[in-house]
Amino acid sequence: MAQAYDVVVVGAGTGGYVAAIRAAQLGLKTAVVERQKALGGTCLIWGCIPTKALLEHAHAYKIVQQSKEWGIVLGGAAPSLDVTQVHARKDKIVTTLTKGVEYLFKKNGITWIKGTARLLGNRKLAVTGEQEQQLEAGEIIVATGSQPRGVPGIEIDRRRIITSDEAIHLKDVPKSMVILGSGAVGVEFGSIFNRFGTKVTIIELLPRLVPVEDEAVSAELQKSFRKQGIAFHTGTKVTSARVNGDVVEIEAELPGGKTQSFQADYLLVATGRGPVTAGLGAEEVGLTLDRGYVVVDELYRTSVPGISAIGDVITVNRTLHPQLAHVSSAEGILVAERLAGEEVRPINYDHVPGCTYCDPEIGSVGLTEARARERGYDVRVGTFPFSVLGRARMANETEGFVKIVADTKYDEVLGVHIIGPRATELVAEAVLALRLECTVEELIRTIHAHPTMSEAVGEAAHATHGAAIHV
Ligand SMILES: Cc1cc2nc3c(=O)[nH]c(=O)nc-3n(C[C@H](O)[C@H](O)[C@H](O)COP(=O)(O)OP(=O)(O)OC[C@H]3O[C@@H](n4cnc5c(N)ncnc54)[C@H](O)[C@@H]3O)c2cc1C
Repeated sequence: MAQAYDVVVVGAGTGGYVAAIRAAQLGLKTAVVERQKALGGTCLIWGCIPTKALLEHAHAYKIVQQSKEWGIVLGGAAPSLDVTQVHARKDKIVTTLTKGVEYLFKKNGITWIKGTARLLGNRKLAVTGEQEQQLEAGEIIVATGSQPRGVPGIEIDRRRIITSDEAIHLKDVPKSMVILGSGAVGVEFGSIFNRFGTKVTIIELLPRLVPVEDEAVSAELQKSFRKQGIAFHTGTKVTSARVNGDVVEIEAELPGGKTQSFQADYLLVATGRGPVTAGLGAEEVGLTLDRGYVVVDELYRTSVPGISAIGDVITVNRTLHPQLAHVSSAEGILVAERLAGEEVRPINYDHVPGCTYCDPEIGSVGLTEARARERGYDVRVGTFPFSVLGRARMANETEGFVKIVADTKYDEVLGVHIIGPRATELVAEAVLALRLECTVEELIRTIHAHPTMSEAVGEAAHATHGAAIHV
């Protein structure tokens, strides 16, 4: 006989597991089908958590490399990296967090059904694998996430031509690596491996690094990467890549049409991620798909009553959807509350923070200067550099700035773009400012503690009104 639940969630990533916890909190009998050996999905197992753990290692290594300046005595030994210990620490963090989700499932009375789910229609699912069974669900939430996507003509062999899934487990520090794509994943791995001692080259098809960010942020990152010795080629198209023994040979077309060859130990393909729907029975039960993504409306209802979808696997009304852990979680909470009968409002995607944990970090929210002009605003901008900030000097992290994009007419903050130390933390204030439709004046009147990095946000607000104090 089929097991019956109020809600069955397919996939225990940051979308699915958060949706399940919220549904259970609201009194719904909830089960999650997850085929991996651990809960947490891409974010906890292959994404946010292991990469940021490696970045913290890279940061610690940077401090040790600057030991003389910091007055740390190493007894004459040159610092070097114990990669086995780096991975052991990273893996321990991942295990602690995935076990933490298991604990939360137990605490909230959520059943984890181990296996692969397939939609059968009529609010039923089949589970195959460790625990074969049929399930009946009042409501189904599809949260099957995403996986690395390749580039036509480049065969990912997962040995030398790799994705982020392999890059987080490389047991040695490669001598050289070419990274294809300069989105968040590409520049984060670029920062990690460069700091570890790898010769990194980034190839980007578009005219600048981190192309979704404000142009000034891209320019600052490019300046910093040049200084750090990270090579990059923008406006450049990789035309072929092949493995020759332990080397990858790459051909690329430069902006003027000239070709250039590259050789590296590894080619990391970081060109984006595609939806996971294979074997799910999505089309068979009538879900509308768009380029493989499950099409949902602004409250995450699919074309089939009783089935919602959230996270990396969706497109909201066929528009580009940010593939971010915090977005999937927010969507999961919204759907759980809707299914429990609570009043919910659509998410404003203009208020989603984007964080890129390269070195220097990037945190941004809202409109870039160019987008604000495109939308017809009478734009004014204020920028404040970290180089003059006491706290940044203490941390020896003086690159970057806070840039505020505002509307002159109503003084409304339209976007905040931060590159520099703790940018991914500082952006939280900016997200709240946008959510509350804050004016620049209100940011100016907000007292920022001294000495903190957050003073740069306050000073950038002053600068927007032409009155920064410390520059
Ligand atoms: C290297 C890297 C770094 C990243 N860093 C960040 C970051 O710093 N911040 C950030 O916000 N985002 C980051 N992301 C993106 C983030 O990880 C994803 O946006 C997020 O994990 C999406 O969550 P999800 O729940 O939609 O899907 P996923 O996390 O992909 O989870 C889907 C789950 O569904 C399971 N599943 C799929 N099909 C089935 C089935 N039929 N039956 C049973 N189970 C199934 C899968 O096993 C998986 O566990 C990063 C991604 C990568 C790759």
